[in-house]
Amino acid sequence: MKPVRGSAGPCSSAAVPSMWWCCTTVSMSELGPGQEEEEERECKASMPSAPGGGGREEEEEEGEGRVLTLPLQAYRAMERMEEFVHKVWEGRWRVIPHDVLPDWLKDNDYLLHGHRPPMPSFRACFRSIFRIHTETGNIWIHLLGFVLFLCLGILTMLRPNMYFMDPLQEKVVLGMFFLSTLLCLGFSWLFHTVYCHSEKVSQTFSKLDYSGIAILIMGSFVSWLYYSFYCSPQSRLIYLSIICVLGISAIIVAQWDRFGTPKHRQTRAGVFLGLGLSGVVPTMHFTISEGFVKATTVGQIGWFFLMAVMYITGAGLFAARIPERFCPGKFDIWFQSHQIFHVLVVAAAFVHFYGVSNLQEFRYSLQGSCTDDSLL
Ligand SMILES: [Zn+2]
Repeated sequence: MKPVRGSAGPCSSAAVPSMWWCCTTVSMSELGPGQEEEEERECKASMPSAPGGGGREEEEEEGEGRVLTLPLQAYRAMERMEEFVHKVWEGRWRVIPHDVLPDWLKDNDYLLHGHRPPMPSFRACFRSIFRIHTETGNIWIHLLGFVLFLCLGILTMLRPNMYFMDPLQEKVVLGMFFLSTLLCLGFSWLFHTVYCHSEKVSQTFSKLDYSGIAILIMGSFVSWLYYSFYCSPQSRLIYLSIICVLGISAIIVAQWDRFGTPKHRQTRAGVFLGLGLSGVVPTMHFTISEGFVKATTVGQIGWFFLMAVMYITGAGLFAARIPERFCPGKFDIWFQSHQIFHVLVVAAAFVHFYGVSNLQEFRYSLQGSCTDDSLL
């Protein structure tokens, strides 16, 4: 039977659920000009001999009066599987629609086309960074963010000690912020790169990805609390302890196997939103103690408020899957909710860095003094 392009055909998800690499409703135009003919040839060549729907070769053989035995069918299926693994290894795979993805790769059913197939090869996964598919934007936003914060971190660490009141302590605190940002962005782009490898790899890296978010929130709190409660070591210690306990709890929850499943999208957004909103208590404490004007000027509360708005907006869009839910299939490659969330995470981390840098300069300008009318 000849595969019918543009329709589900004999190897649709319903007929042959596991044969997701065969000729189905894949948009050939996504492969670029000039590849369609080759793809069609490959499709015909690799058409699996599903029971009741054999390929051309089988038809010819049947025409000669020979019937394929079950072991021979299994042997041919193995051959085709081997051929497919070779194609993946050489980077000759193509994007597939959402409805033929295996369950463990189904995350957002508003993204209809352009998904990577499962590719059990790390080499193929990393090479896919340079191809256009649903994860290209997610990978590159956090990969470029990673490079940006790596440069900022190195520049900050190499800053001469004369610009710090307590160089060792301050560099440890700022270093924790950069390390947490790098871990979050690093885990994230790695997860988005390899999550089509296999179910096990996807699950392991998704746990790292979610742990990275909790680590970023903890690292951000540490640097903010250090400078904002500079002259109140007791309050600082209490708030630091609370955020560490909450952050570690979130990391433990993220190790739950079902935490990363689509069913628990709202739970995930809720856990990280709750962790971030725990900052409301020290912020209120700071604002009431210092007064609104002082808190928003030298205290940089405005920048931290903007950071919180960015994180909350990102988490909200992520949980509600806006904008793709309003136009399914229109945001498959660019401007999907997850990409907006990734951009907001990088922007919020940068706003945080800017606010903390201003606080550091303010403390330096006071020469670390806590005796006069200084903050807390
Ligand atoms: Zn992500």
